[in-house]
Amino acid sequence: MTQFETPNGERFADFVLPDGCMMCGGSVSIRATPSGAHGYCAKCHWLSRPQMRVRPNGVELSFSTTVLA
Ligand SMILES: [Zn+2]
Repeated sequence: MTQFETPNGERFADFVLPDGCMMCGGSVSIRATPSGAHGYCAKCHWLSRPQMRVRPNGVELSFSTTVLA
């Protein structure tokens, strides 16, 4: 997991979840920003919006299987 901060103070985290794609089982690239997390599978081009929770020992991601209106 790589964390860095932009010159204007925003924090981002980019990391890869191996086998994280629910559609094809490929690796999903996660980009976490202050406004939320985005996931992208380069293999099947599946886009996801995982829920992100910050834990004392790391970040927990959960993929919602229901679409919220
Ligand atoms: Zn995929």
